[in-house]
Amino acid sequence: MKIISILGSTGSIGTQTLEVVRQTGDFKVSALTAGSNIELLEKQMREFHPAMAAVMQPEKAELLKERTKDLGIPVYSGMEGLLAAATESSAQMVVTAVVGMIGIRPTLKAIEAGKDIALANKETLVTAGHLVMQAAKDHGVKIYPVDSEHSAIFQSLKREDSSKISRILLTASGGPFRGRSRSELSQVQVEDALKHPNWSMGAKITIDSSTMVNKALEVIEAKWLFGVSFDQIEVVVQPQSIIHSMVEFVDGGIMAQLGTPDMKLPIQYALYEAKRNFLSGDRLNFAALKQITFEAPDMETFKGLALGYEAGRAGGSVPTVFNAANEWAVARFLDRKIGYLDIIAVIEDALSVHERIAHPDLEAILETEAETYRYLEGRWAH
Ligand code: NAD
Ligand code: MG
Repeated sequence: MKIISILGSTGSIGTQTLEVVRQTGDFKVSALTAGSNIELLEKQMREFHPAMAAVMQPEKAELLKERTKDLGIPVYSGMEGLLAAATESSAQMVVTAVVGMIGIRPTLKAIEAGKDIALANKETLVTAGHLVMQAAKDHGVKIYPVDSEHSAIFQSLKREDSSKISRILLTASGGPFRGRSRSELSQVQVEDALKHPNWSMGAKITIDSSTMVNKALEVIEAKWLFGVSFDQIEVVVQPQSIIHSMVEFVDGGIMAQLGTPDMKLPIQYALYEAKRNFLSGDRLNFAALKQITFEAPDMETFKGLALGYEAGRAGGSVPTVFNAANEWAVARFLDRKIGYLDIIAVIEDALSVHERIAHPDLEAILETEAETYRYLEGRWAH
């Protein structure tokens, strides 16, 4: 039995991870955490009996403690709770399924405690990739990608020498607004942007997919996970979400991973440390599928992708500004406080005033985030 802690167990990745735990019977859960959904967390505690649980909001943590008294499971709150879950002593692997750069500190702490990481929380790698990859190296910890594209690349690299990579072909569905013009996008409402054609995911990443900022974050994530340069990462739009990504090698050969869009495969591939195991579900039927199509991304309409490449290439604290401004803007858009195209305008604005720090440590990254928020509050919140 392998023991895992799940940070963000009530979310889209968190609940699918627990489905894998339930279906395989090969894993035991040591810690579960949520931001505020204590109803679901209580159910999960009763089913999986973790050694501890944590809730970000202190009042909610208190309520949960009351409601689960009979279980005798300690419930913690705040960042302290998240860090306790990340370092829970019996855990061998930590699944990072929280959304946003709130995941940086728990991810680093888990690595320092020697836990392998199943990494879904891409914002952590985007903003602190240099710290996370170095810490993993220092502590002999493995990082298994959960993001479907990165899992596909990881699968395509099995038994290959990564120094022989020529290009990474990161596939993108193009999201619900593929083919639209910029003026058509100005009318987009929250409901429209929350409709992803192929994947059912949390709200933030669904909005990110529609703006293609998600693909920008994934480009930076791929740079850190696979040690390639930005020139070696090409985004290919493939609207059916069948090819989950590809790797081209120096001899021109290309390896790809295909399948139906189901996050449980990349999740369990990470949990099983890159070993194959049975997973039920639909299989691809190529005769019914008939075709898989490709296009180049429209980086003018979906400027977030171009901005992400620029931020990634600039490096240092710039990807943190890109990510923090996006997190701020998406939350405001979901609250209906700013318009759809404002998301990109907010990111551009924040990037335009930032003074780059070349080698930010953890403190500088978190301070850059806070500074970006302060700046945007002053400029955009009214
Ligand atoms: P989600 O919104 O469905 O779930 C997020 C989880 O984090 C929930 O358990 C929530 O309670 C918790 N959380 C939210 N804010 C928190 C806070 N401030 N403090 C502590 N906990 C908090 O998100 P998701 O779609 O599952 O995505 C999680 C991560 O995985 C993201 O980084 C996302 O980019 C990545 N990812 C998701 C998918 C997917 O299919 N959903 C695919 C690839 C990558
Ligand atoms: Mg992805």
